[in-house]
Amino acid sequence: MRIDIITVLPEMLDGFVNTSILARAQKKGLVEIHVHNLRDYTLDKHRRVDDYPFGGFAGMVMACQPIDACISALKAEREYDEVIFTTPDGEQFDQPMANELSLKRNLIILCGHYKGIDYRIREHLITKEVSIGDYVLTGGELAAAVMSDAIVRLVPGVLSDEQSALSDSFQDNLLAAPVYTRPADYKGWKVPEVLLSGHEAKIKEWELAQSLERTQRLRPDLLEEK
Ligand code: SAM
Repeated sequence: MRIDIITVLPEMLDGFVNTSILARAQKKGLVEIHVHNLRDYTLDKHRRVDDYPFGGFAGMVMACQPIDACISALKAEREYDEVIFTTPDGEQFDQPMANELSLKRNLIILCGHYKGIDYRIREHLITKEVSIGDYVLTGGELAAAVMSDAIVRLVPGVLSDEQSALSDSFQDNLLAAPVYTRPADYKGWKVPEVLLSGHEAKIKEWELAQSLERTQRLRPDLLEEK
């Protein structure tokens, strides 16, 4: 899988892209992540990518030309499954969307800034608009980072133990069961007996019961028919 992230602040993503799960996935040759500086595509001699909004509104708007040039250059190289724009008014990012996007080959993620991007880009070039929550960030870089992390860890082979992702919260619309590690007794705080029993079927049964109980109590909305 390949993810191309377009941003005016590549330095915000450099560390993230080269650390932890994303670094490991790239080293294994399973994923490629490329960060593109939008300013490299502007025709403006001062490398500006924004301009004043028509209508006299407050703030600045990212202009069509550099975004179009960058997306067109990428599309000339390969086909993209989705051209995603990060935006607070987009479809809410969740685990099912991460699952779906992890099956794609090539994704573009465009990070907005300022008041956002010229709406014509959204109408003509964007295929999917995604929000990471009902709050407004200064730019789309954190949203792109959140999405890339959640997507890449689902790509087969990226996690050393693939079963681990399957038992994470939101897979099967359930919250994860609690987890424990050694020692089995810490200051008298004990690990549930069943986990020490070595009885696989009973442990599975306990895990499912815990998941159901926690989901019912903490996120009953996940159990509702959609
Ligand atoms: N004026 C825009 C609005 O009210 O919808 C908000 C612009 S925000 C200051 C700048 C950029 O940050 C957005 O274009 C978007 O790319 C990104 N952004 C902000 N909040 C986000 C969120 N919740 N999810 C995804 N991207 C977000």
